[in-house]
Parts: sequence; structure tokens; C-alpha cells
Amino acid sequence: MELLHSGGRVKDIQSVYLDTTFCDPRFYQIPSREECLRGVLELVRSWITRSPKHVVWLNCKAAYGYEYLFTNLSEELGVQVHVDKLDMFKNMPDILHHLTTDRNTQIHACRHPKAEEYFQWNKLPCGMASKTKTVLHTISIKPSTMWFGERTRKTNVIVRTGESSYRACFSFHSSYSEIKDFLSYICPVNAYPNVIPIGLTVDKVMDFLKPLCRSSQCAEPKYKPLGKLKRARTVHLDSVDTTIRTPRPRKMKGCSQ
Ligand SMILES: [Zn+2]
Repeated sequence: MELLHSGGRVKDIQSVYLDTTFCDPRFYQIPSREECLRGVLELVRSWITRSPKHVVWLNCKAAYGYEYLFTNLSEELGVQVHVDKLDMFKNMPDILHHLTTDRNTQIHACRHPKAEEYFQWNKLPCGMASKTKTVLHTISIKPSTMWFGERTRKTNVIVRTGESSYRACFSFHSSYSEIKDFLSYICPVNAYPNVIPIGLTVDKVMDFLKPLCRSSQCAEPKYKPLGKLKRARTVHLDSVDTTIRTPRPRKMKGCSQ
């Protein structure tokens, strides 16, 4: 946060480029990362402590973006996470030691195009069950975004979707209310969307962002010095009168759209 401040005040920010994936009141609240992590952590802990044959498969849809989840699970449970390749993390030393290419671990985030099919046969994407000829007890946890409207009550961050499958709330993106809070706080001159939320248009996203920017607010006029006071002399025929004049007030700028 200190990068946004200078001398104890919020910096004067001209333009902000935002992740607007969920910039829509439909996505008013998304449970916090900490709350989601706690849910996943408890589920994984309760499963893998049953026996060494109890394993968890994190069904992640992308190769990147789950590092927060992997590192925290590994740190809390002391179990490395199986991934297909380590070279993609070679420039991330903080993450690297939480990951492994050794399949004999109880947490897997390995991937395979037919992974969901494999899972129906109680087989991990890395094929561990068939290779070692041991029966594994596997559950799958699919991290996916869950959202709640302004007035909807938040429910559990873990949802059971099948006998051994779960969906866990996990989001890389800010909710609508977080975007609003952030912009209201830093109050930039302009804000630009990086993503158009599903079902919306650029204009619609701008309609949400603009009222939170200074470019559309006239309430706080820009400070402009009045300039030097001029002393003008008006000479009358019968007397000498001295009047102090101030320059005419300038027309306020900044309200044009
Ligand atoms: Zn694996």
C-alpha cells in the first residue's frame, strides 16, 4: 500500500488499468483468499491424515495462478504438491521448494487432457494409481470462482459436487465491491478496464468505473492560483481613485466528458 501513498496522503494518480473480470454488480462479493484457503486447507487436512493412501487432486484449469494455494498447503501440511514440470517455476524460488515431480506425494496438481475421465477410475492425471498398483482413495477439489450478490448471504466456500468431488472457491480477480472500494479510495482521474466481463460491453463497464473517477466529478475543483493581483488606476477628471481588481474568475475545467 505504501506505493500508493506519498507524505501520508494518497498519491495523485492519473490513470488506473484494472482487472475488471468481475466488474459487474452480479459479482458483488467474492469470499477473501484467506477464507477460501482456510476451507481448502481443512478439507485437504481432514482427507490426507486418514492414511498415506488418501490423496487429493487439485483440478486446476490453468498451469499458473494457483501458487498461493500450493505454497500455503505445502507449508501448513508439510506435503509437497505434485506438478508435471518444475522448469516453469524455476524463476520462482519461493514456490519451487513447495513443488515436486515425485508422484509419491498426497497432494497432486498434475494435469492431463483426460484428467476428469481418469478421475472416474480413481486414477490421478499422472497415472499414479495404475503404476504403483495400489488403491488410492482420491478426492478432487476444483478451484473455481464463487460470487454472491449484494444482498445474498454468503454460503460455504466448499461445495460437495459428487461422491468424491468438491468445488472450492478460489479467485484471482477482484469482486465488484473491491473494485469500487479501491477506486473510491485512490480516486484516480481515469480508470480503464482490462477485461470486459461476460455479457457486458466496454461502455457498460465504463458506466460503472466513471462515477468513481475524478474525470467525471466536478465536486472537487482543481487548485489553480489566481495569479498576481493587479493594481489598476482609474483616473477621474476631478479626483484620483485607486481600485484593487482581481482577475476575472476562470471558467472551471474538468467537467467535460
Ligand atoms: Zn500427480
